[in-house]
Amino acid sequence: MALTFTVLGCGNSTGVPAAGNYWGKCNPDEPKNKRTRPSLLVQSNTTTIVIDTGPDFSLQATHHDINQIDAVLYTHSHGDHVHGIDDLKIYAKAKPDGILPAFTNHETILELKRRFYYLFEGGNESIYQPMLQTHALDDRYGQTVTIGDINFIPFEQTHGKVRSVGYRFGDFAYSTDMKHLNAQSIEILRGVKTWIVDSAGYHQENNPVHASLKEIYALNEHVQAQNVYLTSLSLAMDYETMISELPEGYLPLYDGKTFTA
Ligand SMILES: [Zn+2]
Repeated sequence: MALTFTVLGCGNSTGVPAAGNYWGKCNPDEPKNKRTRPSLLVQSNTTTIVIDTGPDFSLQATHHDINQIDAVLYTHSHGDHVHGIDDLKIYAKAKPDGILPAFTNHETILELKRRFYYLFEGGNESIYQPMLQTHALDDRYGQTVTIGDINFIPFEQTHGKVRSVGYRFGDFAYSTDMKHLNAQSIEILRGVKTWIVDSAGYHQENNPVHASLKEIYALNEHVQAQNVYLTSLSLAMDYETMISELPEGYLPLYDGKTFTA
């Protein structure tokens, strides 16, 4: 089953430009430097999955004419990955039971339910109906999970004190927001052809939560991905500058890029 992947956003927590039209080191004249918060759309002929719903999700869904979502996968609960969660409402309402399945790890489920309790239990006001049903992935790392006709294998990532979830779909994998991978996760990723990976550490080896370029090169000695695309791109990461400094097989991502796998 061929899948299409669309990068809805590849910025880090601020996006580029940051609020107030601040571009940092990024050239405002380069369209590929305009980055919304991180999200990935995964589509087969019949099934649509979105990974993360950040603050830009409504604009991303409108820009890409997303008229159906069958499930949402969350990587972790940081604001830039979840704060558009309310905008799933229109997609939940289209389901026969008004409920969308949401897959992630246990710690993310706890945090989502704490912050957005009204989306899971309904609220005091009748306008809030429960619209999300959570499914924990912790016990399913390394196993195939199926939604409609899309299969994926979840794996654990270390993102500072947070544990995030990475996702492999056949020859394609998505590892946003991570610093380290354990041996099991590297094994799950091994041999993937295309790997989208967090690089917000960039040249900072001491970034506590995001992988640096050197750390990604070292990880890919084991993963052996042929094409590595860098995501979670910050205000310090200018597209053309990165193109000139990255080795063969490594490229910066940009919003709207699509892949088929
Ligand atoms: Zn994060």
